Amino acid sequence: MTRVLVVEDDPQLVRALRINLQARKFDVESATDGSSALRLAAARKPDVILLDLGLPDMDGIEVIKGVRDWSRVPILVLSARHTSEDKIRALDAGADDYVTKPFSMDELLARLRAAVRRQEAAEPSQETVLVTTEDFTVDLVAKRVRRGGRDVRLTPTEWHLLEILITHPGRLISQRQLLLEVWGPTYGDKTNYLRVYMAQLRRKLEADPAHPRYLITEPGMGYRFEG
Ligand code: CA
Repeated sequence: MTRVLVVEDDPQLVRALRINLQARKFDVESATDGSSALRLAAARKPDVILLDLGLPDMDGIEVIKGVRDWSRVPILVLSARHTSEDKIRALDAGADDYVTKPFSMDELLARLRAAVRRQEAAEPSQETVLVTTEDFTVDLVAKRVRRGGRDVRLTPTEWHLLEILITHPGRLISQRQLLLEVWGPTYGDKTNYLRVYMAQLRRKLEADPAHPRYLITEPGMGYRFEG
């Protein structure tokens, strides 16, 4: 049974989530503030955390940071905050995904299952050598990309970006994370670099670069690789 920790101070929403999650065979625990969330996360080792950002005792971002000190458990943020700045802060603190309230229960459950699946796949994927899609293959050890029977030549920067995205399939990676990792600490706001390099990667890898199937933009937030 998948254990989910619901961190939310709105009792009606907690009740609705509990009913829906239990109906789908999740084992549900809930916390209504940040300090009990941190305590339960440590004591019960949930498989996934659903986290509201607006909590009575602390900002949900602090809960993300606290959990990330010791755990890679997937954290799906639920929030009424709509600005991309809030979403980016949550992702940069280590959240895995973000759902804006009001949300559809079906979408939430789909994202939750995806987060759990990615986590389950995460350990063996350290060993993954070959990532195969219908259009191209990436050999992570040989650092080689093939498409339509030919090698695709990537620059070191293109390769670095691609490598980060494909080793976290399905996961939304923030612009800032990518910039810091590929270009370095003084480049965190150079989002135009990302646009340029992602466009180059799409031209090299996507059948229809204007309508990418694998290298997906989440506007204002970041990018994800859909394998
Ligand atoms: Ca709240």
